[in-house]
Amino acid sequence: MKDTVVGRFAPSPSGYMHMGNLLAMLLAWLDARAQNGRMIFRLEDLDPTRSKQEYIDALAADLRWLGLDWDEGYPDPAYAQSNRTALYEDAFRSLQEKGLVYPCWCTRAERLAAASAPHQGEADADTGCPCARLTASERAMRLASGQRPAWKLRSPSETVTVKDGHYGVFTQNLARDAGDFILRRRDGVFAYQLAVTVDDMLMGVTRVVRGRDLLSSTPRQIFLIRAMGGTPPSYCHAPLIVSGGGKLSKRLGSLSTQYLRRETTPEALTGRLAFACGLIDREEPVSPEELVPHFSWDRVTREDIISKL
Ligand code: GLU
Repeated sequence: MKDTVVGRFAPSPSGYMHMGNLLAMLLAWLDARAQNGRMIFRLEDLDPTRSKQEYIDALAADLRWLGLDWDEGYPDPAYAQSNRTALYEDAFRSLQEKGLVYPCWCTRAERLAAASAPHQGEADADTGCPCARLTASERAMRLASGQRPAWKLRSPSETVTVKDGHYGVFTQNLARDAGDFILRRRDGVFAYQLAVTVDDMLMGVTRVVRGRDLLSSTPRQIFLIRAMGGTPPSYCHAPLIVSGGGKLSKRLGSLSTQYLRRETTPEALTGRLAFACGLIDREEPVSPEELVPHFSWDRVTREDIISKL
């Protein structure tokens, strides 16, 4: 069916989920189910040093425990980014052929030093390191020396506008606000921005719901999808849950689902999340299924939610 909404869960198995992850997943699921849409569950396990089987198992168990189901994906290995390298290679080559990619030998410290003044959510906007200005022969010489580079996308001075379903119009000039960004690390691992766009495109995702911290990545992703000849999905970002002035981190063990699952029930936790974001007027146990008929983004707050835990 052509018009079916296709949403996705796309967690990185680099830690246990916390309340903020769960809220984004609950909203992604409600958004899709309220439109009779389908859900995909893929694993963003690109980084072999951070992804752990223990976290993958916990992610799937947490979603099931909460009552968030999916139609496609995990445990099918084709939906794990670590098994999709050949697809990223093809996409990377197509961007290279368009002249959008250059090799970069800077260290991370050098890249940070070259970064412009921090933008919101964009602490290290890279406005071009010396590697971006090498001549073709200088570049060829360095490549021939065998020193492995990282590969970066040269951001054009192009304005990209996102019509976010929840936060409204968000505009960036790619070169100025996002800067050049890494598509492939020096160790050969493809970067999030490349993998996420290839996957959203090839999996036929039409609707991306995720935490607001990724709003500032969205213009880059729209640019990449268009550059690869695809049609970007629509985006709808979810409020963050913050604690002590910052976004929740997977390192805050006390807020992880592993802890929450011991001390509460799925309905109580769903009720807590739904109340915290404004979907229900009183904090009371409820299942995700029961929230579907009443779901509306109009009820969801745009403010950060302060965790009371
Ligand atoms: N894998 C990312 C995360 O866990 C989410 C990526 C996305 O939704 O685009 O934070």
